[in-house]
Amino acid sequence: MTVTPLTTTELENLYAVRLQLEPWAAGLATERATNEDLLQVTQLLAETYHAVASEALRRDRAFHRAVYSAAKNEVLTKSLGQLWMQTDRYRFILLRDHRDDQAAAAEHVEIVAALQKRDSKLASSLTRNHIERVLALITKVISD
Ligand SMILES: [Zn+2]
Repeated sequence: MTVTPLTTTELENLYAVRLQLEPWAAGLATERATNEDLLQVTQLLAETYHAVASEALRRDRAFHRAVYSAAKNEVLTKSLGQLWMQTDRYRFILLRDHRDDQAAAAEHVEIVAALQKRDSKLASSLTRNHIERVLALITKVISD
């Protein structure tokens, strides 16, 4: 199996699509989430941190997937699932070195609070900031 190298072009392309879809998905989730969805997101929030990078990656993905699936659009959920698989190896760099644990955890807490307030604008903008900040960090690491 050939492994394609990590490139800033691929990273930028993937994140450009994520930046369109995920803030929208988070906004939709504030309108469509059931109380059970909110409960699940809150439970996953409490478990996002883990010292082992592969496990931290899995938990981060589970958290975001729960948020986006609360938007109740299966096409969206599937598309994001694929995009996430493609960005895993980029995000792994941050998780492996624990470069982002605390900031990401704090942002997750804010996103959940926005969902609970059912504030769609806030949930969208927090999600956009979260993704943009992670993108900037990864870009810096892979271009160093
Ligand atoms: Zn996250």
